[in-house]
Amino acid sequence: MKAVLFDLDNTLYPAECDLFSLIDVRINRFMEEIVAIDPAEVDGLRRRYWKDYGATLQGLIRHHAINPEAYLDYVHAVDVGSRLVVDDALRRSLQKLPIPSYVFTNGSRCHVDRVVTALGLEGLFVDVFDIRIADYRPKPNPDPYRQVLARLALAGDQCVMVEDQPQNLKTAKQFGMKTVLVGAAATGDVQYPYVDARLAGPAQVGSLLRNWSEVAC
Ligand SMILES: [Mg+2]
Repeated sequence: MKAVLFDLDNTLYPAECDLFSLIDVRINRFMEEIVAIDPAEVDGLRRRYWKDYGATLQGLIRHHAINPEAYLDYVHAVDVGSRLVVDDALRRSLQKLPIPSYVFTNGSRCHVDRVVTALGLEGLFVDVFDIRIADYRPKPNPDPYRQVLARLALAGDQCVMVEDQPQNLKTAKQFGMKTVLVGAAATGDVQYPYVDARLAGPAQVGSLLRNWSEVAC
């Protein structure tokens, strides 16, 4: 293994922090106030765009000709520090990882910087791959995975991906990556054939990698 790709939201911090609800409100407000969509249609459109494209942003680009950069600035303008606190245990754990760590997210780099700072994880990630890497096409679309592997100059089977969304790990497995599910889905009863390991949180990734390397030896 040569790299660990960490998702950001609800992966590096638990979903219970409920940071996404702040972004959620901003997405609705953007659609109503900036794009001038009838408020009664917003929820239905968001569901449709999620289903068809994996993210609201792609639907807004395709059907409303919005400026994606304006969208990213607007929806991520939330008080991250009101929901997240420094996670020293996670920092110590990530510092000991034997291979480089990266962030691979459907959010924006600016949001990553704020979250990483709020969690006290500055300097631990070699690079950030955000929603821009494949022209705003989000995971689980294969295009951003392909771009990430090209940027890293690695094959899929040299990477581990850590995520809270099972469907994003399905694509990772199609690229040959090792897949690690964290968060609520990891503690649920549903089995996912493309998930190699389930962990309580990202702080356990180090011991998992050590176990895997011992087995490989
Ligand atoms: Mg996530």
